[in-house]
Amino acid sequence: MLVVQAAGLATVAGTITLAPVEREDWIRFALLVAAAVAHLEAARRMERIREVSSEGSGHTHLQSVWFFAAVLLLPPPLIAGLLAVSYCHSWVRVYHRRAVAHRKAFSMATVVLGCAAAYAVLAAVYPEHGAPFATELDGPLGLVAVVAAGGLYRLVNYGLVVLVILLTNPDRPARKALGHASDQLMIAGAVGLATGFAVVLTARPWWAPLLVITVLALHTGLLLPQFRDASRTDAKTGLCDPTFWSELAADELDRARRLGGRLGVLLLDLDLFKRINDEHGHMAGDAVLRAVADAIKHAVRGHDMVGRYGGEEFAVVLPGLGVDDVRHTAERIRAAIASVTVTTIDLDGAERTIGGLTASVGVAIFPDHGLDRTALLLAADAALYEAKDAGRDCTRVAESARPALPAVWQTQEPVVSLARRLSGRRRPADHRSPSRPPG
Ligand code: GH3
Ligand code: MG
Ligand code: MG
Repeated sequence: MLVVQAAGLATVAGTITLAPVEREDWIRFALLVAAAVAHLEAARRMERIREVSSEGSGHTHLQSVWFFAAVLLLPPPLIAGLLAVSYCHSWVRVYHRRAVAHRKAFSMATVVLGCAAAYAVLAAVYPEHGAPFATELDGPLGLVAVVAAGGLYRLVNYGLVVLVILLTNPDRPARKALGHASDQLMIAGAVGLATGFAVVLTARPWWAPLLVITVLALHTGLLLPQFRDASRTDAKTGLCDPTFWSELAADELDRARRLGGRLGVLLLDLDLFKRINDEHGHMAGDAVLRAVADAIKHAVRGHDMVGRYGGEEFAVVLPGLGVDDVRHTAERIRAAIASVTVTTIDLDGAERTIGGLTASVGVAIFPDHGLDRTALLLAADAALYEAKDAGRDCTRVAESARPALPAVWQTQEPVVSLARRLSGRRRPADHRSPSRPPG
């Protein structure tokens, strides 16, 4: 990784004086920076999910559209400038400073080298010409040059990423490091869009914003439904469904484990929710569930994953947080739920405002209360039961892991209670977990 980073730095240093930077270059640079920033902002949440779920294989950076357009439009120092802006922006807004800095520096170095390789191809095909190459791309030679430059851009950065993943994870299956075939298609699409954008920007600059909108709309418009896929989100609340939430939680856990970080899991059950259905009807109950889901989402950070885990049960993954922060978050969520009010038409046709909701919360922390997803969920679930037992409307943190207990007790008791709760067959008064084993 150090070799690649050094090569990236040497490339930037060695090419900084290769071509003069003129006024027009600065204007194009400003437009590309604006487009890259707007693109990342629009797709921030999706990018975060993509980045986390690509843990262990290369993450295909969708900003390649702007990176490759920069190769076709800008002199080398400004290409490096665009990469720096984009990576710093991702660092602050997508990775939330929680990724490992040297990994991102490595990733940026691979893109620098990819851009340099692409630039070298174009410079070889058009030796008389400096940036912008976009004005020269004509005829079959132009097509060959773009395809070769795009191919090399991808080959260099993807090849280096795969190589390092294979070297650092020798027992991981090589296929996982290669990522999905769809990533290659995405990059091919990005190279095509980038070329169109670069040509339009040089020939018809006023049309450029149209293409920026096209890229943003295609990315968010085509990918968003995938992330909101019916099989991934709960139709009633729009939150992640249990399966999708569990996948995301496992990815985050994987990451926390690799980086030696912490992670909080929070299970929340609305108190005496059945009464709301009984008093106001199930439609009103549904409206309350939706409002509570919104309140939870707004009470946590953008990259915390909120899921609907059962009827009126919610689960939240809080990456990077320890006990105190997760406890604060739980209290903030409970305060948000307490201030939820929903106006509905009651069973008798009258308008009513439902409010004063309370919730019980169970908290478990990685690695304090469990090392894998199941152990954490069970610990949080047991803590949730304790909160119910303590009279509801409160938060309880899991007890520290108890390795002294026979393994059979540690797993079976909460599994039974979790399964029973999720099957929804528990009677409202029966909120006690089965008696604990002695010791
Ligand atoms: P507590 O958790 O405090 O022990 O009491 P509770 O009344 O909330 O008890 P429990 O969690 O066992 O009951 C959950 C109730 O939530 C049962 C059901 O009436 C209601 N519920 C579950 N899913 C839905 C849903 O999708 N819509 C509506 N309206 N109600 C639901
Ligand atoms: Mg419940
Ligand atoms: Mg409940």
